[in-house]
Amino acid sequence: MSPRPGGGDLVVCAPLRVEARAVRRGLGERGEVRRTGYGPARAARAAAGLRDGAFGKLAVGGVGGGVSADLELGDVVVGTEVSRPGLGDPVRCPSAPLLAGELRRAGLRASAGKIVTVDHLVRGGQRERLAADGAIAVDMESAPLLEAAAGRPAVVVRAISDTPRRPLLSPWAVPGGIAALRSLRQAAPVLARWAEACGPRQVLLAGPRSFCAGVERAIEIVERVLDRHGPPVYVRKQIVHNKVVVTDLERRGAIFVDELDQVPDGAVVVFSAHGVSPEVRRDATERGLDAIDATCPLVAKVHAEARRFAADGYQVALIGHAGHEEVEGTLGEAPRAMILVETIDDVARLAPQDPSRLAILMQTTLSADEAGGITDALLERFPAARRPSSDDICYATTNRQLAVRAIAADSDLVLVAGSANSSNSLRLVETAKRAGTPAYLIDGPEDIELGWLAGASVVGLTAGASAPPAVVGQIIDALSGLGPVEVSERVVATESIRFGLPKELKQ
Ligand code: SF4
Repeated sequence: MSPRPGGGDLVVCAPLRVEARAVRRGLGERGEVRRTGYGPARAARAAAGLRDGAFGKLAVGGVGGGVSADLELGDVVVGTEVSRPGLGDPVRCPSAPLLAGELRRAGLRASAGKIVTVDHLVRGGQRERLAADGAIAVDMESAPLLEAAAGRPAVVVRAISDTPRRPLLSPWAVPGGIAALRSLRQAAPVLARWAEACGPRQVLLAGPRSFCAGVERAIEIVERVLDRHGPPVYVRKQIVHNKVVVTDLERRGAIFVDELDQVPDGAVVVFSAHGVSPEVRRDATERGLDAIDATCPLVAKVHAEARRFAADGYQVALIGHAGHEEVEGTLGEAPRAMILVETIDDVARLAPQDPSRLAILMQTTLSADEAGGITDALLERFPAARRPSSDDICYATTNRQLAVRAIAADSDLVLVAGSANSSNSLRLVETAKRAGTPAYLIDGPEDIELGWLAGASVVGLTAGASAPPAVVGQIIDALSGLGPVEVSERVVATESIRFGLPKELKQ
């Protein structure tokens, strides 16, 4: 059994006396603060003295110069990597997104990015050149000080005392210094929380996880439409419920709208993977819009079942969540025949016109346990109720729930990558919690609260069907900045399903 994460033995290197004082005030007894001196030469000497020390985690804390134009005095920059031009490879600090997220939750304006260590004050044109190379801040000590970490977890936090618009040699120098030292003091207790989260860990991956066939198809549809027609391409509702996917497609020229009246006449519009009601399709035709349908074929199957049962004279109890786009689309297939059932209590209240002609359908992304309970209650009241020949809860939802259940029991904590409006991701959190393990939904590493990790030596990790696989890699990378990470995967099913593209995009 690996040692549990946590514990003290944090050393914070602060170059100047005023910086050391600010850190000490915020840190209290939760770490040792060392004054390491101004400039790279003194920093290198201090690092050489520290390198063989008995500490466990290293932080560099001080003020720094802003290079990126959107930084303000008192902002905090956490180094994702720190480099010294012409002197070796940059040093990566993978836990930077975790720390930056925690600093933001502590009320600071914090960002994670590249820091460059220089040996002189940086002015005008040089700031611009560094910014063009991707740096967001500069300092004069961090790169040599990081040498002292020698493989131990390390972070760099710089509070911004000057920016391109408020340079050091200007009337802004004093207010800039005061703002930076105040932020540094506020950041210090967060450094203590970072240290408590450090330690070796196992990451237990659930398999399968992340994108399903319906989501891959929907994203490919938008990409192909963008390639074929060029931006802008309008998409009604989020193409899939994930912030990362939506932001990426927006950057490439997609415009997400809530309703068709926000789409200009004659424009191309894509319907999301969650499906639309016939009324929306009619509207698009009447408006002369070039509509391309990215509805997942498994959602379309539920729509077809709704139409068929309604045409056969059945009322349909649709188990699902009010307001979800998929549910709205399915209800719209036969509005007069459909009754939404959200809970077991709704079953008791259900009063179909003819109890012998009731059918049961469900949203594709429900919890199998919860939907099973509601179905049982419906069948108990209406034993003759008809059901479709195959499950409505889709293969991807079922597999991901089985997989998270398989890792939850052996994990101290389960992280689910996915957005707050993603039904299948939320169900994964519920499934893990039902297995007795604390579980949290996160869009990315910056959403992980450091307190969740303190004492958690086995972290279960999965991703909802709409969350990109790359996010899982980013989370593992961030955790690896807190200590050695051993990754293993528990696969409960393999998936080979692929859906074809709509006919308009096949040619
Ligand atoms: S979760 Fe299921 S229904 Fe939803 S898009 Fe994926 S495969 Fe289709």
